[in-house]
Amino acid sequence: MSEPVKSPALSSEARQEARAPQGGATLDVEAVRRDFPALALAPYGKPLVYLDSAASAQKPEVVIETEARCYREFYANVHRGVHYLSAKATVAYEDARRKTARFIGARNPNEIIFVRGTTEGINLVASSYGRRHVGAGDEVLITTMEHHSNIVPWQLLCEEKGATLKVAPINDRGEVELDELEKLMGQRTRLFATVHVSNALGTINPVREMIALAHARGIPVLLDGAQAVPHMPVDVAELDCEFYVFSGHKAFGPSGIGALYGKLELLQEMPPYQGGGEMIRTVSFEKTEYADPPARFEAGTPNIAGAIALGTTVDYLEAIGMDAVWAHEENLLGYGTALLENQPGLRLIGTAREKVGVLSFVMDGVHPHDIGTILDREGIAVRTGHHCAQPVMDRFGVPATVRASLALYNIREELDQLAAALAKVRELFA
Ligand code: PLP
Repeated sequence: MSEPVKSPALSSEARQEARAPQGGATLDVEAVRRDFPALALAPYGKPLVYLDSAASAQKPEVVIETEARCYREFYANVHRGVHYLSAKATVAYEDARRKTARFIGARNPNEIIFVRGTTEGINLVASSYGRRHVGAGDEVLITTMEHHSNIVPWQLLCEEKGATLKVAPINDRGEVELDELEKLMGQRTRLFATVHVSNALGTINPVREMIALAHARGIPVLLDGAQAVPHMPVDVAELDCEFYVFSGHKAFGPSGIGALYGKLELLQEMPPYQGGGEMIRTVSFEKTEYADPPARFEAGTPNIAGAIALGTTVDYLEAIGMDAVWAHEENLLGYGTALLENQPGLRLIGTAREKVGVLSFVMDGVHPHDIGTILDREGIAVRTGHHCAQPVMDRFGVPATVRASLALYNIREELDQLAAALAKVRELFA
């Protein structure tokens, strides 16, 4: 299984032409790679080729170190203590909120609620905003390309309220057609919730246009930014969306921490999501008064070290520059697409004109799980399955795909290795 296999032929001109970086932003990828200790691992004695960042990304040393240092040097519960350590942890935790706000363009740190991740953020909005604003006969609008976490919370809400979930279709490239979307925005649409970037297809949705269409009808918009924030600059105030959610772990930060952005005037009128400590102003058995946002939505002891390390993560990304990250990945995507398109019997699922570095594919006669297992023995980590987006698989008539997902630390040589390993898979199944 380990004899060398030639990379499928791609002329050097074709490689060069594979989308050159745009703009002046550049990224020193070798320096970036040195920041990520996991990239030096060698599963089965083969250098790790990590192409599964869409599932969860690797962490730079500085983030790992911040989390460890927090537990070693300034850990205590936040907001509650009068003592030195509690004050220090609280300052670091609130600093992280400010940094997160700055990173995604929120103008006010109180518009950032720390949550476990994208899933919790969407559930929070569905339970709090949704329960208050969606009633019997109303509609919630999503798209076919949503992750299950942007489907099921709305289904639960619609079931509870007697509302209807409407779903905008996607075309064969994996794009939402705006005129189809517009037709589904009606008098009873109470919210439009869409993925910013699809995890299964890589499609970047035209969210500016989508938001404009929704706002023209007075419909608020939630964007699931789980796959956007790690790859491109995001400015929620400029986008003017009502809600934006992302997960730390996909953006090179810790797991168990993420952020929900909400426009302050909406957060202020929303009821609590969970009850408990921290989210109250006063409690008596007769009546409890709730704290203002963000505390109103952060009941209980939060992921203190995780939030602080998320602050370090966004510092790290800002120092590199999200424009540079975007340009690097766009270049890689062009290169990888050209390589895979050249493979006999391979079909890319998701060929939108605007994409991030997600290469989702199926191969004639080979189950995606078999491909994943063979790639694994070559040291190549990819994701196989439905990627928590079963309606996308149904739309394309496949049970599963292999997904190679790119991030700021990937290099062309890794894509060459992927292509070579796929050639080996083909030989094995010929
Ligand atoms: N939305 C998208 C587009 C995703 O890719 C994911 C994770 O794969 C999620 C939501 C859920 O994120 P988490 O599991 O971090 O809550």
